[in-house]
This record gives sequence, structure tokens and C-alpha cells, in this order.
Amino acid sequence: MSDGITALVLGGSGEIGKLLVKELNRNLNFSRIILITRRNLNMSSNRIEERLVDFEKLDEYKEAFQGAEVAYSCLGTTRAKAGPQGFVRVDRDYIAHAAQILKDIGCCRHFHLVSSQGAKKDSNFLYLKTKGEIEELVSNMGLPRISIYRPSVLLCDREETRPLEKFSQVILRGFDWRNKWSIETETVARAMVCNTLEEQLPEKAGSSVEILDNMDILRLGID
Ligand code: NDP
Repeated sequence: MSDGITALVLGGSGEIGKLLVKELNRNLNFSRIILITRRNLNMSSNRIEERLVDFEKLDEYKEAFQGAEVAYSCLGTTRAKAGPQGFVRVDRDYIAHAAQILKDIGCCRHFHLVSSQGAKKDSNFLYLKTKGEIEELVSNMGLPRISIYRPSVLLCDREETRPLEKFSQVILRGFDWRNKWSIETETVARAMVCNTLEEQLPEKAGSSVEILDNMDILRLGID
């Protein structure tokens, strides 16, 4: 195998995650893509490796994280699906634990976190508070470079039924022509790959932690 970047993806079966894996797989700068997953995804190929883990016992699966030079977290659930505690467990604790393992192993030079527009650790809303908390935890971990993406409402054809999201998408697809409140999942995935390969945006340079809002993501991710 040629010398290329080894990437690791958390949440590779999700709406952003699966497009990210596709982008990484077609980009020859990446020679290996490790998917950390709780279930078999049948995506394995000569460049993609699935590594099955129990997210509740990640310490027992440190070996699965070996070799990752860049890592992407597209992990997440909803309060409706997992309940408030389950949501925090996935969207904060699982991600923080994975990032800590990567930090301890020491070969990850760039960690990418999909957070959300409005993330704020002292928010009264559980969703935004949890996103703010995971941003802070990852930012303080001492990884060499961290990119935090704060997309607005994701536009995608989700298989899972989320009536409120579907309703917002219909409205936003019609009216949000400047992409202030919405963004295509493809654009987010492309931006994450571009940002890995490009220098930091000039206004973000000089800091190990960069926050990319919806407009930054659009700038990077639109062809
Ligand atoms: P999806 O819900 O489509 O995918 C989530 C991923 O997380 C899947 O790979 C899923 O695996 C994994 N996952 C969920 N629960 C668990 C669990 N208990 N244990 C292990 N893995 C789990 O995510 P999206 O692509 O829609 O979103 C990505 C991120 O973007 C999320 O953090 C989300 O909060 C954030 N975001 C979403 C917005 C939106 O409009 N929807 C807006 C802004 C940010 P599996 O396939 O096995 O379930």
C-alpha cells in the first residue's frame, strides 16, 4: 500500500459519516480508512477496515484506534431515540473517550468534531449544552490540531423518520437559498476532507483549535 494518510471515522454509518467515508475513499491522499463501529457495516474494502467495538468499554478496544493520523467524529444520537442520559452518553462521553484514547496513543495529529450551530456549554438546552461541553472537552485534550464544525440544519434524505427535521428541511430547501440555516450533508463531508488537506483558514491560523461555522463549512465544501 502506498504511503498515504490513515484516517479514522467514528459514526461512519450516519448521514454525514457515510458521505465522509465515500469522500475519503475516493481521495488518493488517504491510504487507509478505519471505521470504529458498533455493528457490521459491510463497507470493508482494500482501503476500508471496520473495527467493531463496544462504546461502553472503549478502553478494552484501544488497539482499534492504533495508526490513526487524522480522526473524524460524526457520532451522535437524539434525545428522542436515546433519552436525555443516552444522548449525553453518545454525543459527549463516547466522543471524549475516543479522543482521549487517540491522544494517549499519540499518533493523531488532527481531530475533527462535528458539533452544531449554537453549541454553548452554559445553554439551557440539553442539545446545545452537550455540544458545547464536548467541544470544550476535546479542545482541552492537548491534541495537535482540532477542527470543530458547527453546521446548521442538515439537508439529507434520512432513512430514519424524524418528522420535525423533515418539516424543517422542506421549509429550508425552499427558502434558505443563502444557506444561513441549512447545509447539505455532502458539503459538510467535503469540507472535512478539504480542511484536512489544506492549510488552516487564514483567520483561524495560529491556534490549535479552529471553529468552522456554517459559512466556513460552505466555503470549504462547495466545489
Ligand atoms: P446520524 O444520526 O445520521 O448518525 C449518527 C452516527 O452515530 C451513526 O453512525 C450511528 O451508528 C452512531 N451512533 C448513534 N448512537 C450510537 C451508539 N449508542 N453507539 C455507537 N454509535 C452510535 O448523524 P448525522 O450525520 O445526522 O449527524 C452527525 C452529527 O451532526 C451529530 O453529532 C449531530 O448531532 C450533528 N448535527 C446534526 C444536525 C441535524 O440537522 N441533524 C445539525 C447540526 C449538527 P449506527 O448507524 O450504528 O446507529
